[in-house]
Amino acid sequence: MAARVLDGAALALRLREDLRPQVHAFTAAAGRPPGLALVLVGDDPASHVYVGSKRTHGAEVGFHVDLHQRPATATLDEVLDLVRALNVDDRVDGILVQSPLPAAMGAEAARRVFETIDPVKDVDGFTAENVGRLVQNRDGLVACTPAGIIELLERSEVPIAGRRAVVIGRSDIVGKPMALLLLHRHATVTIAHSRTADLPAVAREADILVAAIGRAGFVTPDFVKPGAAVVDVGMNRVTDEGAVIGFFGEGSARHETWKKRGSVLMGDVHPAVADVAGALTPVPGGVGPLTIAMLMRNTLTAAERRLANR
Ligand code: NAP
Repeated sequence: MAARVLDGAALALRLREDLRPQVHAFTAAAGRPPGLALVLVGDDPASHVYVGSKRTHGAEVGFHVDLHQRPATATLDEVLDLVRALNVDDRVDGILVQSPLPAAMGAEAARRVFETIDPVKDVDGFTAENVGRLVQNRDGLVACTPAGIIELLERSEVPIAGRRAVVIGRSDIVGKPMALLLLHRHATVTIAHSRTADLPAVAREADILVAAIGRAGFVTPDFVKPGAAVVDVGMNRVTDEGAVIGFFGEGSARHETWKKRGSVLMGDVHPAVADVAGALTPVPGGVGPLTIAMLMRNTLTAAERRLANR
């Protein structure tokens, strides 16, 4: 039996629609729209696509969105100076610095940039202040991707309290905050990673399985308890035709896409998991659009809190 599709794109559309009247009310009260500053450094093609999408959706819900682009040759100090200027700009409520930063900036660049963002404007939820608040289950700005996943699970009436959840991946931006959000909703949570012994057996314990790995089709049916809800966070571009045929079949819609574009986007979950899982997020159209919707929500929340504390 095919898994129920957890339609993130449809929910994201609804969430953005729900935001519009709230944005309108804020704009009337503050005398200006919520302000979102997007910082894009370098020329990573995927980052350009993500930032473009954030800009379009932000403008659509009624935000004032500024895009600050810097070349790949920009120095870390230049980016830090830009962030400091945005911190003190009263029209800016949310600051998002798109990852990854150019490798030439050094391994610590992202952390230094995130630590420079005023936590009040940290709409990605990456600063130590907001992560600490999440650990303590206090109000703060929560990382958008895990926040969107919780919204999707709750609105889809996937039970969380008392259930076993396994999160594969322990990154600061997805795996760890995801595990904490599930924990705060009373799931019993395991975080798995590249050193986990017998990963399929660990994953098979899960009523809710979140895959945030970054490896196309890694989670095969033997990872999945029959009937489990499976959330696929992965966004992987597959360029090899043999791999596309292996995953989706010769002449499949994805194979046709590959013939036109030379690549297809797919998640960390193997397509055959749809026959075992009870519910599944598609890629594309699952977690990705929700991440952007939650960025919009975080920006409005940041704007409202700044207005209230004026
Ligand atoms: P990341 O920082 O590279 O972390 C990947 C995690 O996967 C690490 O914890 C790593 O374990 C684990 N891992 C790697 N290989 C593994 C293996 N063979 N077995 C078990 N665990 C393994 O990636 P990320 O930033 O969390 O992103 C993960 C994926 O989600 C990527 O495809 C990314 O593009 C996607 N993503 C999507 C969205 C969205 O909006 N849809 C947002 C963010 C990220 P170790 O810690 O042991 O190395």
